[in-house]
Amino acid sequence: MVSKRERFYVDIPAGLEDWVANRLVGAHFRILNALILGHLLNAAMIFAVFYGSVPTGQLGMWSTGMIALCIHRYMIGQGQHRKAGRKNPAKLIAALEFNTVGLALFAVIALAWFFPGATALRQIFLTIVATTLIAAAGYTMRTLPRAALAYITIITSGMIWGLLKTGSLQALAGSILLGASGMLLGRMALVAHKLFVVRILRERELHTSSETVRMLLNDFEDHGSDWLFELNDTGMMMHVSERFASALHSVPEDLNGRSFVDLFEKSPEQDQLRDHLGQRRAFRGLALQLQQKSSSDRSWWSVSARPAHNGSISTVQFRGVISDISAEKQAEARVRYMAHYDSLTGLPNRMMFTTALHRMFSERQDDVRLVLMLIDVDHFKAVNDMYGHPVGDAFLKHVGERIATCAKDSQLGGEAHLVARLGGDEFALLMGGEDVVDHAIRLAARLVDDMAQPFIVNGHEINSGVSIGVAIAPDHGQSAQLLQSNADIALYYAKDSGRKRWEMFEPGMDVAVQKRHAIERDLRSALGNDELRLYFQPLVNVETGDTTGYEALARWQHPVRGLVMPNDFIPIAEETGLIVPMGEWIIRTAMAEAASWHDPKTIAVNLSPVQLRSPNLLPTVISALAESQIDPARFEIEITESVLMNDCEANIAILNRLHDLGIKIALDDFGTGYASLNYLLTFPFDKIKIDRSFVTDLESREDCRAIVGAVIGLANKLGMCTLAEGVEHEAQLEQLRSEGCSMVQGWLFGKAMPAEHYAERRTDKIAPPVVKPAKP
Ligand code: C2E
Ligand code: CA
Ligand code: CA
Repeated sequence: MVSKRERFYVDIPAGLEDWVANRLVGAHFRILNALILGHLLNAAMIFAVFYGSVPTGQLGMWSTGMIALCIHRYMIGQGQHRKAGRKNPAKLIAALEFNTVGLALFAVIALAWFFPGATALRQIFLTIVATTLIAAAGYTMRTLPRAALAYITIITSGMIWGLLKTGSLQALAGSILLGASGMLLGRMALVAHKLFVVRILRERELHTSSETVRMLLNDFEDHGSDWLFELNDTGMMMHVSERFASALHSVPEDLNGRSFVDLFEKSPEQDQLRDHLGQRRAFRGLALQLQQKSSSDRSWWSVSARPAHNGSISTVQFRGVISDISAEKQAEARVRYMAHYDSLTGLPNRMMFTTALHRMFSERQDDVRLVLMLIDVDHFKAVNDMYGHPVGDAFLKHVGERIATCAKDSQLGGEAHLVARLGGDEFALLMGGEDVVDHAIRLAARLVDDMAQPFIVNGHEINSGVSIGVAIAPDHGQSAQLLQSNADIALYYAKDSGRKRWEMFEPGMDVAVQKRHAIERDLRSALGNDELRLYFQPLVNVETGDTTGYEALARWQHPVRGLVMPNDFIPIAEETGLIVPMGEWIIRTAMAEAASWHDPKTIAVNLSPVQLRSPNLLPTVISALAESQIDPARFEIEITESVLMNDCEANIAILNRLHDLGIKIALDDFGTGYASLNYLLTFPFDKIKIDRSFVTDLESREDCRAIVGAVIGLANKLGMCTLAEGVEHEAQLEQLRSEGCSMVQGWLFGKAMPAEHYAERRTDKIAPPVVKPAKP
């Protein structure tokens, strides 16, 4: 059973009595004016109704008393009393109770006193007044239960007394009803009071606990890596912490009351956030990018939040956690970037290019043509081998930049350029438009020219170039795949036709290209299948006419094609890197051959720039010397000017190592490159080989004679031997002799032939015959 006390009273925790009392009084003061006005109105009405029927003196005294009590109550409500009461609310309550009893007694005087003698109409009026007062008191004094009870009891009893005094049956019935409703209202006032106290105590509890929570949260805020946030019902930030604010380069004062959603960049996620907040839905891990204050500011936040359940005390509607996911986002972006862009050049990669090509195909309108250019760097492998990978990489970067710059040049026109690096030294350019073909032709020609200009990379001057294959859709291919493979064929054709050029695809080109592909494929197995041969060409002393040595020249004995000349396979071997193992075989074979000769003639071997860069070169030469046991002075290496043009220092260092071994170094094809006499000064060559082109025109061209004369003169001064290549006629020989040339080589003395051909070199240990080649 619930006791009466429990039904109407609440246990107020110790120490909170004054706080509760203050709240009760405060609540009463809020409706104090209504209560006073109500009483004044009642008094005025009673005065008006009874004026004339009750002696005016009595009515006046009664009214004055009523007004005085109202003023008294008003005064209690005024600041002075209130302030004083805050410290001692019990006193204030007592004053209010005293006043209430006064008001009730005065009202009862009117009711009980005026009632019995009043007319029936006036009695009805008084009954209405009484019930109104009781009902109003039940409401206005619910926070002052004792006052409410006293008021209701006094008025009800007074009114019943007045009713009973009339002695009528109706009055008796009225009194019973009045008594019952008085009791009911009394109870209601007590219940209302209890509910009020319960509510304020609960609010207080919640307030305290949310304060505690906030303290804990602040602690978390200050020490954790994440931030907490609170929003009100309109999504504005509340209770912003210092740390949170500093993450936004702001201060709490500026952020409090500002929209949370507006912190972020516009995005579908931002819309989601707005929706969640608007519909008070919990959400997790929403990735949002902060509004960028500066371009360097790329912060991403992961936001989780849920609606707050705070009751009516707090305006916090949402509470959540933020973690900074900028690092993850950056990593993600990097991965995405790496998937689509080439890290070296920053250009789109093959994947992005392929996607773009397919998209352009699928979106192509009938009158639009697509141009695909495949761009290949000439002799990139040589650059890489000569200067090393860091320079090779930097060179490719320059190449990419130059292609992109050229493509961007608005004068060349064309739309929708895409420049991509497909991998290695392969680039591609895509463009589309109605009359794009003319632009493409101009651009291809310009690219070939531009790329042939020297590149300065890490202090090295690199002379390179590009070969370009062009294919146009739909003319050269109805599908992305076909277009690509036809551009590829055109590219191979351009390379085959001597590089540093562009070719537009034409039907039939593929036959030539397939031949090259086949050579490349077969060359890979040539060494293993023992298909390489060395031919030897005599090198002849001009004065004596003696063959002092031989140049070893490579041949490829192809099972189907027959004898393949070096110009048809050495460039492919250089490009594919096959020249390194092939070159090793050539060095060993040449030395082994020379070792078999009975007289110590020299043996010259051609060395590609690629080989010179190979770390295997020195060990190969040394071990071949050891195996063959020939005098290093009999071994000669022929290098071309290109070795001195590119990465001169590193190459010269290797040449010096070889020279130190006693090996002779010859400068081959002199005059074909940049024909600079300066090259003669870069290294103490043992021999200068004047290119065949000068010798061929020796008789007909004065300038050729002048150049040859100058080279021979300078070489002699420097103590270098001179050898003229490609001597086919007596007249050429005579001319060279008169210029002071020391050695000659050419068909006049003998073509490059298999070793057996020059029989006198064969070892004859018993009686070595000294056979000299036919003297011209
Ligand atoms: P090269 O080093 O200038 O070799 C001389 C070329 O001129 C040889 O052509 C030779 O047969 C040719 N020749 C010699 N005398 C005459 C002549 O009187 N008239 C004419 N018209 N030609 C003459 P080959 O053997 O076809 O070699 C061509 C090039 O291939 C060589 O030019 C050389 O650069 C390269 N090569 C040949 N063998 C090797 C090798 O083993 N290694 C490397 N790296 N390159 C090689
Ligand atoms: Ca040579
Ligand atoms: Ca030569």
